[in-house]
Amino acid sequence: MAIRDSAILLVEDNPGDARLIQEYLSETAALHSTVTHVARLSEAFDQLALRPFDVVLLDLTLPDSSGIKSVNRIISKADGAAVVVLSGRDDDQLVALALQAGAQDFLSKADVSAAALARAIRNAIERQAIVVERDVHARISRIVSSTLNMSTVLDDFVSEVRRLIPVDRLVITQIDEPAGTLIDMQVWGVAIPEWDRNPVHPLSDSGAKSTIDAKRGNIGYPDSGPEPGGRYPGQASSKKAGLHSVIFTPLISNDEVIGTLSVKARGRDVYSDRELMLLEEIAHQIAGPIKAADLYDQALMWAQEREHRILLEAEKRELERVSESRSEFISTVSHELKTPLTSISAFIDILSRNRPNNLLDKQLAQLDVMRRNSQRLSMLINDLLDLSRIESGRFELQAEPFDARAMLNDLVVSFGPIFSDKSQSLTVTGLDQPVWVRGDQARVSQVLSNLLSNACKYSGPGATIRLIARATGDFVEFEVQDTGIGIAPGDLGQLFTMFFRADNVQTRSVPGTGLGLAIAKTIVDLHGGEIRVKSKVGEGTQFSFSIPGVIDAEAAAAELQLGAVPVVPKSRLEDIPAESPSAGQPAA
Ligand code: ADP
Repeated sequence: MAIRDSAILLVEDNPGDARLIQEYLSETAALHSTVTHVARLSEAFDQLALRPFDVVLLDLTLPDSSGIKSVNRIISKADGAAVVVLSGRDDDQLVALALQAGAQDFLSKADVSAAALARAIRNAIERQAIVVERDVHARISRIVSSTLNMSTVLDDFVSEVRRLIPVDRLVITQIDEPAGTLIDMQVWGVAIPEWDRNPVHPLSDSGAKSTIDAKRGNIGYPDSGPEPGGRYPGQASSKKAGLHSVIFTPLISNDEVIGTLSVKARGRDVYSDRELMLLEEIAHQIAGPIKAADLYDQALMWAQEREHRILLEAEKRELERVSESRSEFISTVSHELKTPLTSISAFIDILSRNRPNNLLDKQLAQLDVMRRNSQRLSMLINDLLDLSRIESGRFELQAEPFDARAMLNDLVVSFGPIFSDKSQSLTVTGLDQPVWVRGDQARVSQVLSNLLSNACKYSGPGATIRLIARATGDFVEFEVQDTGIGIAPGDLGQLFTMFFRADNVQTRSVPGTGLGLAIAKTIVDLHGGEIRVKSKVGEGTQFSFSIPGVIDAEAAAAELQLGAVPVVPKSRLEDIPAESPSAGQPAA
């Protein structure tokens, strides 16, 4: 190891001896030393506190301290410097004690010569370096074995490395072999913004590539040309960050490169083979624990994931249980409500039919209100029953051929009074002849009822609602257009969700449960059809849905076993007649 530019602290109170030693030191060209001379131990402490020294030459008889005590005291302050003891007496026992106390060498003033001094200093520095190295390795072992989490001990680790090697930036990476990437696990010191922005780098971009391939450390030269292992893609950004020297070493565990340990320094040509060897040893020392930490982290992560999954499953089961009992409750209550409601509706009918004998017009009008409210209640109960059927997966269709035109006619008749009540008109365009569809008539009619009822509810008095029906190929399509309040674009995506109602004054002023459209979509989906919506706030809304299953009249008749059903061709788009306004009138 070179001992050029060693900093030497000479602690000597005898001016003659001090001068002689300084002369010897300046004569020894190989030493290139800078010597600081003090005459008292307390002054030596001051110097040691100011800057690091490589060697302390210590006279054992000083005005403020003497003998082995001086050795002990200077070693406690020397912070890694080698201590060489100078004594006027040739005392074997003192030599032994001084060496035992940690001095690296012992020189009798009587034997001092330039050559002896140079040899003693060189040996002392080398021995001291070995002591420091051993100490650093011991401490690193303690640090990495104390925890499996490297980030908590990174600072301690780096300060140990810095006792051996100049370091302004240190990076520990892990290799993701399948992804071909290098991941920065720990980064300490000077930042390299371009590099640090993202912790994952393609392996090929890294200066460590040749280190990994060769399974050996190497020194990079960010400033110079393409030496072996020299140039690397990150070097421009290193230079920009003021880092001019670099060493890459592989982290090898079980003969496999699991990552890298690299150091960078500001100075130029800071690193030699010695620093490379030292860093390789440190890399060797930490590779196992880092691999273990990685496995430990993975095991921890898996354990947490498993725990999370178990919790989620328990939550899911609980939610299912709650949902089941909710469905059950809704179903029971709805059935219980239905029975008395049926009897109320029946008596309303009976009373209404008694008119000529008993009832006044006023009472009849009141009966009408009762009928409409009981119908509303009945629809609500039916919606709740549908909800519980959908939630429990018991919602089924009863499909058989039905005539879509007849169904429309019935609907238009039953909606007549509802539109009239709000002075609204219903325009029907569409099927000019029977269109046979294989589906669940009651359910398809329910979808249309919901759309018509919404068009009525969410449009103002006097509005015109258009109902368009058409048969195209296998499909029959229905469209309900209104000129009502419209739906905000942000609400369109949630319209078909159970219980969704738009959050605005107009909607809140109209009674509703938010169930109708969700049930409508379930019905259309179960038919294999599609429901769509277009809307503009303040202008109006168009809902349309199509149902497949259009069949010809003969097939319908055969299926229904009705015997002779008139054979009429399916209606087609071009057959649809011009619009025929008919407030509350049956479709054509
Ligand atoms: P309900 O009408 O009982 O609230 P629906 O499921 O039928 O429930 O409709 C859900 C929501 O969609 C309504 O609350 C309303 O906000 C909005 N909506 C449905 N149809 C229309 C329409 N024709 N015009 C404006 N908004 C509508």
